[in-house]
Amino acid sequence: MQTRLTLLGSTGSIGDSTLDVVARHPDRFSVYALTAHRNGDKLVAQCLKFQPEVAVVGDAETAAQVAAALRAQGCKTEVAHGPEALVEVARAAQCDTVVAAIVGAAGLAPTLAAARAGKRILLANKEALVMSGQIFMDAVHDNGAILLPVDSEHNAVFQCLPPCADKEAKLHGGVSKIILTASGGPFRTREPATLVNVTPEEAVKHPNWAMGRKISVDSATMMNKGLEVIEAHWLFNLPGSRIEVLIHPQSVIHSMVSYADGSVLAQLGNPDMRTPIAHALAYPDRVDSGVTPLDLAQIATLTFEKPDFTRFPCLALAIAALDAGGIASAALNAANEIAVEAFLDRRIGFMAIGDVVDRVLNALPNTSAATLAHVLAADADARRLASRFVAELTASAPGAEPIAH
Ligand code: NAD
Ligand code: MG
Repeated sequence: MQTRLTLLGSTGSIGDSTLDVVARHPDRFSVYALTAHRNGDKLVAQCLKFQPEVAVVGDAETAAQVAAALRAQGCKTEVAHGPEALVEVARAAQCDTVVAAIVGAAGLAPTLAAARAGKRILLANKEALVMSGQIFMDAVHDNGAILLPVDSEHNAVFQCLPPCADKEAKLHGGVSKIILTASGGPFRTREPATLVNVTPEEAVKHPNWAMGRKISVDSATMMNKGLEVIEAHWLFNLPGSRIEVLIHPQSVIHSMVSYADGSVLAQLGNPDMRTPIAHALAYPDRVDSGVTPLDLAQIATLTFEKPDFTRFPCLALAIAALDAGGIASAALNAANEIAVEAFLDRRIGFMAIGDVVDRVLNALPNTSAATLAHVLAADADARRLASRFVAELTASAPGAEPIAH
């Protein structure tokens, strides 16, 4: 039977990689819905190629443009817009699998809707899980949804765990810890004193992976690895103390699982997201992803080092937020989204990202995250506070002039 996909965030980096794999297997996969925020032109091209039943964009104006362009080409895709339309395509009966590839908190509502509708969810949108943690996992379990990690580290861990239907339930038998590898990003060896002067162009230039702008900055601060520790906690039901971060600059080992008998299982491959995407799309089968085979003799050397928490304070902040529990992870994520956007807009410096997140976590009382209302309130409060701290920093910066782009 064909897998019928809703691809949330189809115009992004994960969206591109997913459609590349899908196009290789027209017999296995068909596309029910594609969604984009503002990039209407790219969405039109994707619709012409994949002929989905529905396309969703962020606003009415983009929707009108996309609909007109599709009609002109004789394409029958129906065009909708807005957050409610995202939720609709995520829970529609016409799809069985939802690829969650929207960036940031905007992905939470449709991804949660997919869980509540009992879909098979391929999760790239780690922010949704970091924000809602227990609520999201409960929705998955209570509604018989299947959660398959696409984030390369978590996909690697999933592949290294014992084969069983319910990985989470059986995990603790024999697993001593998870080792998440991290490249260390573009500033692993840069002189710490010069990090304050890092530009957005330098920060988004990842040494090994081609990704969207937000996750690229998160990789440069290592907030990404911090979010991934929280993500691993929820996906694999392990405490933070049993999730280790290991710097591995070559990004060939995508993560490892350490067992009580001393065995360590690792998943290796070239750093190309089409591997975890193809794995999750076809699971439990294996299909061609288009990724170049790994040539270890050519790579020759794999190296490892401990993370430097002084150089990367965001990593420490995320681990502390996981330990703190409650709304701390949701607040951390929201503050980080605001701070990263401000950095990309050149309103604050690179090292200020961690400062803003730290100030927000100190200023917000940590309360319960038992309901979605609690989480959304924490998200809104953290955004408000972070925006205020960003504005203070912008006002106090000597000669600071925001640069529009
Ligand atoms: P991206 O910026 O390239 O793409 C984001 C997608 O989300 C686009 O289609 C965009 O139109 C859509 N989008 C943005 N804001 C939206 C909004 N407010 N409402 C609806 N749609 C919106 O990002 P990406 O690199 O593809 O990352 C997507 C997610 O996958 C992120 O959560 C990221 O952490 C995760 N992830 C990415 C990679 C990677 O290699 N790119 C690896 C692991 C995990
Ligand atoms: Mg990752």
